[in-house]
Amino acid sequence: MDLIEVAIKVVREGPICDSCLGRQFAKLSTGLTNKERGMAVKTVLSMMSVQNIENLKIPDKEKCWICNGLFDKLEYWANKAVEEIKDHDYETFLVGTNVTGLLSENEEIIWTESQTQWAEPAKSELNREVGKLISQKTLKEVDFSRPDLVLILDLEDDLVKIKSNSLFIYGRYRKLIRGIPQTRLFCKECGGSGCEVCEGTGKRYKESVEELLIWAALDRFRGSNASLHGAGREDIDALMLGNGRPFVLEIKDPILRNVDLASLKNEINEENFGKLEVLGLKYVNKSTVKTIKTIKADKVYRVKISLDKNVEREKLEGALINLKGVIKQKTPNRVIKRRADLIRVRKVHDTELKSLEGDTAVIEIDCEGGLYIKELMTGDDGRTNPNLSDLLDTNVKVNELDVTNVQIDEGHII
Ligand SMILES: [Zn+2]
Ligand SMILES: [Zn+2]
Repeated sequence: MDLIEVAIKVVREGPICDSCLGRQFAKLSTGLTNKERGMAVKTVLSMMSVQNIENLKIPDKEKCWICNGLFDKLEYWANKAVEEIKDHDYETFLVGTNVTGLLSENEEIIWTESQTQWAEPAKSELNREVGKLISQKTLKEVDFSRPDLVLILDLEDDLVKIKSNSLFIYGRYRKLIRGIPQTRLFCKECGGSGCEVCEGTGKRYKESVEELLIWAALDRFRGSNASLHGAGREDIDALMLGNGRPFVLEIKDPILRNVDLASLKNEINEENFGKLEVLGLKYVNKSTVKTIKTIKADKVYRVKISLDKNVEREKLEGALINLKGVIKQKTPNRVIKRRADLIRVRKVHDTELKSLEGDTAVIEIDCEGGLYIKELMTGDDGRTNPNLSDLLDTNVKVNELDVTNVQIDEGHII
């Protein structure tokens, strides 16, 4: 079957526009639009009909039976899309189409009847041609991999839907008071629907680092929602000090994308004064979420402990020296329901006695991420070895546990 035979079959099916005709030969030449291909094919067929080819009527002004005039309305769709996104900040976009059932059916009919091997779907042409027009009108670029905006032409309902891809901000937070979880936790009683126990909030705690962080950001970016991705998490009752814990804030469906982060930082810090502080905000790629979720960061902890009996300073210092090196830690009793029961090997890099008064001591521990510090102190019924309790031969109780440093190489953050 050659091109002319296919073309004759196509035009015999009914009146067809240049785009729909040309699209049946889309894979045959590059550098042309389907409309141009269609015009060329029509020209050739007109010249051939002069040579008495039977029943060959070249469609001209009648409405195209395949697209019902859709390809004459590209400008209409482009204008509609541009109007819809006029309030949005964006650098890149991508056009998609929800076609009508009739258009897909008509396409299948013409492919079967003409036996063309070279067609592309109407949807692809529409996305591309409307994309070109929007690009001309807005001077923004089409991006196939991760556009800021996805514009869906909904042919059935005659409207353009917008999906604004999430925006990501990297930073570090310092948590200056105890009793706040990192993210929102649902009420245990009602599971989030609201009850007497949670006073109708659905939450186990009144606030979280996540909530304290996001409200100002949501307001400025005009997003629909936001979530916090932390590089690990501290206990609810632990402070997060030093230069803070790395996080990525994801803003969903943002309308604005060029917010001044220094001013956002100031607003968050003023509003949460004495409670929470953020540092070093910067715009990053989506991939940074994965980077900070999987990064192995060394940590420094400050632990306040009390001992069952008074211990000599030298003895405590000696025990802390012996705590350095390799620790074998079986999954702690308090988390065994949620984690596999195995032995993890972690290193303690350094320990230091900060103060000792009577039976109360403050120590600092510099170690690999993933070591449970409470159990390193108490021994957890012999599940962590070595441990401070065994080394001192007395019971150890952890009163406060704070994170004073999370060491990561920010070179990986882009
Ligand atoms: Zn058409
Ligand atoms: Zn509740």
